[in-house]
Amino acid sequence: MTFDEFKRLTILSPVSQLADIFLLAGDIHATLYTGSKAMHSQILSIFNEETGKFKQFSAAQNLKITLERRYKNALVDSSRQKQLEMFLGIRLFKHLPSVPVQPLHVLSRPSGFLLKPIGSMFPTSSSGASLLSFKKKDLIWVCPQAADVVELFICLGEPCHVCQLLLTVSHGADDSTFPSTVDVRTGRNLDGLKMVVEGASIPQCGNGTNLLIPLSGPISAEDMAVTGAGARLHDQVTSSLSLLYDSEELEGELDFLTRVVALTFYPAESGSPMTLGEVEILGVSLPWNSVFSNKGTGARLTELAKKSQKDSNSFLSGSDTNPLSGTSLSNQAVSKSAKQGSANDLVDLLTGGDILSESVFPPVTENVTYGGGDLLDFLDQSAVDYHSPETDHKPSTPQDGTPQDSGTQKYINCVKFMAGPHMDRKLNYREAMKLEIERLHLNLSAAERDRALLFIGTDPATVNPNFLLDGLYVGRLCRVASTLALLGQVALEDKINGSIGLGKFEDNVIDFWNISRIGESCSGGNCEVLAETKATLSDSSMLSSTEGSKSVFLCSQCRRKACQVCSAGRGALLLPNYTREGTNYNGLSNQGGSSYSSQVDLTTTRSVALDGVICKKCCHGIILDALVLDYVRVLISSRRKARADSAAYKALDEVTGSLFLDSLSERSQSSGNQRAVKVLKQLLTGEESLAEFPFASFLHSVETATDSAPLLSLLTPLYSGSQHSYWKAPPNTNSVEFGIVLGTLSDVSRVLLLVSPCGYSEADAPIVQIWVSNKIDREERSCVGKWDVQSLISSTPELYGPEKSTREDKLPCHIRFTFKNPVRCRIVWITLCLQRPGSSSVDFGKDFSLLSLDENENPFAQETRRSSFGGANKNNPCLHAKRILIAGCPVKKEMELTSPESSSQRNWLDRAPQLNRFKVPIEAERLMDYDLILEQYLPPSSPLLAGFRLDAFHAIKPLITHSPSSGADIWDTSDMFLEDRYISPAVLYIQVSALQEGIGSNMVTIAEYRLPEAKPGTAMYFDFPRQFQTRRISFKLLGDVAAFTDKLPEQDDASLRAPVVAAGLSLSNRIKLYYYADPYDLGKWASLSAV
Ligand SMILES: [Zn+2]
Ligand SMILES: [Zn+2]
Repeated sequence: MTFDEFKRLTILSPVSQLADIFLLAGDIHATLYTGSKAMHSQILSIFNEETGKFKQFSAAQNLKITLERRYKNALVDSSRQKQLEMFLGIRLFKHLPSVPVQPLHVLSRPSGFLLKPIGSMFPTSSSGASLLSFKKKDLIWVCPQAADVVELFICLGEPCHVCQLLLTVSHGADDSTFPSTVDVRTGRNLDGLKMVVEGASIPQCGNGTNLLIPLSGPISAEDMAVTGAGARLHDQVTSSLSLLYDSEELEGELDFLTRVVALTFYPAESGSPMTLGEVEILGVSLPWNSVFSNKGTGARLTELAKKSQKDSNSFLSGSDTNPLSGTSLSNQAVSKSAKQGSANDLVDLLTGGDILSESVFPPVTENVTYGGGDLLDFLDQSAVDYHSPETDHKPSTPQDGTPQDSGTQKYINCVKFMAGPHMDRKLNYREAMKLEIERLHLNLSAAERDRALLFIGTDPATVNPNFLLDGLYVGRLCRVASTLALLGQVALEDKINGSIGLGKFEDNVIDFWNISRIGESCSGGNCEVLAETKATLSDSSMLSSTEGSKSVFLCSQCRRKACQVCSAGRGALLLPNYTREGTNYNGLSNQGGSSYSSQVDLTTTRSVALDGVICKKCCHGIILDALVLDYVRVLISSRRKARADSAAYKALDEVTGSLFLDSLSERSQSSGNQRAVKVLKQLLTGEESLAEFPFASFLHSVETATDSAPLLSLLTPLYSGSQHSYWKAPPNTNSVEFGIVLGTLSDVSRVLLLVSPCGYSEADAPIVQIWVSNKIDREERSCVGKWDVQSLISSTPELYGPEKSTREDKLPCHIRFTFKNPVRCRIVWITLCLQRPGSSSVDFGKDFSLLSLDENENPFAQETRRSSFGGANKNNPCLHAKRILIAGCPVKKEMELTSPESSSQRNWLDRAPQLNRFKVPIEAERLMDYDLILEQYLPPSSPLLAGFRLDAFHAIKPLITHSPSSGADIWDTSDMFLEDRYISPAVLYIQVSALQEGIGSNMVTIAEYRLPEAKPGTAMYFDFPRQFQTRRISFKLLGDVAAFTDKLPEQDDASLRAPVVAAGLSLSNRIKLYYYADPYDLGKWASLSAV
């Protein structure tokens, strides 16, 4: 049947309708994929009655679609690609570059609370607790006039590592009443507070502005001094910026058990009242609940902690697994060698011979083994060989137990190897980077490295890779490195998605970076590339003889055979144009890389199969440099992660004790949990447990015996620790006091003391006294009772001696201390006192109820003590307990009545300031150093400068800073506790200096401000410490500027064009000087020159 026959025999309209539906579906699909209608669809309109009519129209239609598609492919393809990718949830690190993987928690909100009340200028029923409530965003708290400083002691709702402080600026009409600086101290309890930030600047801002102050852990003053961070404050010369990476990173101590944060606010002018607004503390807490129930992430954490514990036990020097112990070892080594150095200055500083001669290393041949061997052993050996003739004349110090293979010493050996015996050879960028790689492999912090360098008389700046390249090249290098990082992540994501979770990543001999370590060189022999040959040292021949057998690769470009050392890392294959020698990468600087970028569309770059190999001679030099840079960034990130991990393990250990880890495996967890729930219910008889870790904690540290279970185990959930362990006070301690902070405000009705498995004897049965309070003031607490446990023992024999049976259905041995009436409180103090013989004459009734004892005990009866079951020494009784339970009802709604603002308060707030800020006109200004330095020139008649206005930066801290370090997805949070960005947060400073007329006419530093983070564009006013006059003033942005980038714009090649330093950090049009004046004096000009 022909088509015409068909047409004649059928009623066309229904067929035509079907065809229309088909067309519509086609158009929908075509639009989804191409953004335009389907082409060549006119054929289906033959079912239409008026065929032919549309023939010409459809040809035009096709042309239109063609044009549309061409246009879209050329210009808006990337945005469509972006939409698709975001829809599929891939490449999120590109599209939402600053989204956190592990969001921070606000731990200051209730049930966090203030340990001390804050005074108020106006009568209020509140004690300041509303400062922590996010419901009170608009709160303006007016502190009394008398206060020079205002201190907030915040007890966090859960233990955590503190990462940020968020302030809400709040004031009345006068914005200078908000504090101008803040000190932050943190600690596990009130005794151990350490300074985290001193004098962080708080600019004057509009009411309601949020200011974020990034916090690291407490940094030791010594580290601060050696890395020069402290010196920068008074630095007059232009300091070079670390644009490649932060080579002087200060490492703050990470502690996941931080519980108390003390804020000290200082007023702008002393004596004037301060206003405060809502305060939030943000941090990261460990998954304690799942740790105790041994499920999910908690179980994983325990598993890892167990593993790391085993590792550090089996290797005496735990420097690889436990950075903390590594640190202490090398510190010891340095201080020791420093002592030796002082005795014999000249020789030691030049050669370090004294230390080196002590080194004992196994013979070379045994150590240079393929793959596994530590190449440094060979280095050490060569250094020893070299120095031994010189050191022969003096008696070498005998072995004295110092760790000879400590990281510091190995590092010093590396420096000597690179810089030559007289330390006179200048290192180039790649050599300095190799030193850094070695440093990171040896697990040394930047401060430890600087200490080592200073010891051998080397200025750390001379081996700082950041200062060894010229500015233009640094810019290009950073661009290539950031492209590499993104492409690396893209490739990994594709690989993970492609394998749908099934694939195992193969281990290649040549990895992503393939950076050869110090001392490695071309193996010669089969290698035809000979890119890295070193014929200088006799040792290399020794090395190559063993390496000659190594596998040989074929360069995909020049088809020559290359050895491992002469091959570039696989990452080089991701970067396009890697073959064109010297063309495009050099052209980048001239015209913003347009020729380059047209060839690479990063979004659509299909991840190249990374199985080829390219030799170092075919790979462009800048790519090799970028691979080295990326590798160092990866190692730094791994070091941070390792520090976070070990802090987590340490926290776990200090809560549960190392025995806990073993006990986990010895019992089945689920039955233990069920049992705990059942037993707890029976113990509490219908009430709730109010003092359970992680929500409850101790206010002060309590001395604990060395062989005891950790203090916090007194508060952990039932059966979460080892059955046989219990808490013990050190011997000869007669009394201890536990200040227990409850999880929430509660009505407490009794305290239960679970007796240690060893039981009590006449000698160590304590006298128990309990107080309660809402705040930390000891004077204000009220005593609820005093009990004598000893007299109880006679009536309840199961308390006496070791626990006899551990039957499942039996309640654990315990003593109840019931209050007369429930008491509403937040803090419960419990003291345990050892009884002195002779004072136990009080007779208790059968039912052990509250009894008041005479406070005055017999001071003469102290001589003989009877035996104790708990103490190590049977004749020396000690205080001990298994667990403390506090029973009662939590107060569900912590109602804090804030009386409405009184009219007197309103009046006070509405008082306008006497003087207003006005803009100081400037004659000229110029920007320097990537727009990070701004110099302003002022006319001679300008008024006294009072401060400057800075508009908050637009830059962000990106998630991706390096290529993937492992085969793990960045969104996989299962074993990440802290993001890199929070471990060593990037902080910016602004330094202001002014020309001082007169002697010498120098630029003098006026002030330095630690900048808080705020919403882009927020106006922040910084007052100078004093008003002054000058002709020239300069503003310099300092700190970790390399950690910031711009938000990626639509165009995907932007990362190649992007400036070295984020454009969002430019000081251009961001700073205005101001002076203070009375608006009435200026008359109508006032409104025009307000700043
Ligand atoms: Zn080679
Ligand atoms: Zn090649």
